[in-house]
Amino acid sequence: MSLQKIGWIGLGTMGIPMSQQLIKAGYPLTVFNRSKDKEASLKELGADTATTPAALFAETDVVIIMVTDDKAIREVFSGNDGLLSAGVNGKLIVNMSTVSPAISREIAGLCAKQGNQYLDAPVSGSVKQAETAQLVIMAGGDAAAFEQVKPILTKMGKMANHIGEVGAGNVAKLAINTLLSIHTQGLAEAVVLAKQNDIEPTVLMELLNNGALASPFMKIKGDAILNDNYQPAFSLKNIAKDLRLSKDIGLSTPLGEAALKTFSDAEQEFGNEDLIAVKKYLDR
Ligand code: NAP
Repeated sequence: MSLQKIGWIGLGTMGIPMSQQLIKAGYPLTVFNRSKDKEASLKELGADTATTPAALFAETDVVIIMVTDDKAIREVFSGNDGLLSAGVNGKLIVNMSTVSPAISREIAGLCAKQGNQYLDAPVSGSVKQAETAQLVIMAGGDAAAFEQVKPILTKMGKMANHIGEVGAGNVAKLAINTLLSIHTQGLAEAVVLAKQNDIEPTVLMELLNNGALASPFMKIKGDAILNDNYQPAFSLKNIAKDLRLSKDIGLSTPLGEAALKTFSDAEQEFGNEDLIAVKKYLDR
């Protein structure tokens, strides 16, 4: 099977820079986004557009999806003119969204019945890594199908690993994002504690960024706090969504439970801001 014609569904914060990497790599790309305005930058780079997911499926060999959550995945597959209504077979679908392993298993079964293959392949990394093709990609599903799409995945990431059956990528991603939430809350709590005791965030961040805890994440989110810049690279509502998915697969440990409560409480006011806006919530 040729996998040269790629369809892309979901042009949000991550979907735009990720799909742009495929155009840069020379793949013919057809895109679909629910809100049409977000297709403009891809069209300018030479992508075709499809009017529905079903139309996109019919004219491409491999479809990559990067949408918000389980609800969006249901819409893309089973909504009006969704992928499952296309009635095509012999194709490969790669779902890179952070969703539950349960929905991956359910949708993989529906795809198999139609003669199509499904891989879950969520990503670690954010906008900066997407813009520089430095994402870390973890895939679940058929190993041979993974090998077929690996050359495509490695155009977007510095690493693409097959780690198990359908849903395994989702499980690994939820474990990683649970740690991400704990790191984020921990950084915010350190800044708040220092400030309460008259140590300015600039002073604390310089110490942190030069000490043993220094990391790219610490630097990026520390700079966001110092610049009072809470524009979403990864939205707070999406980390709250991921912690709920972690809860669904058994999260019951002390730090994870605490993070789930914090981010769920913060979501109402700060959900559309970056996850480090949890610092503003903790300031209260
Ligand atoms: P985003 O900016 O909110 O974009 C979400 C995308 O999903 C948009 O294209 C949106 O379409 C589409 N969508 C939402 N609901 C839909 C529905 N019911 N039907 C069809 N399309 C729908 O989110 P993002 O930051 O790109 O994240 C996308 C996924 O990657 C999420 O699962 C997220 O957890 C994960 N992720 C994000 C990051 C990050 O740093 N941002 C990092 C790693 C993984 P519209 O434009 O029409 O709303």
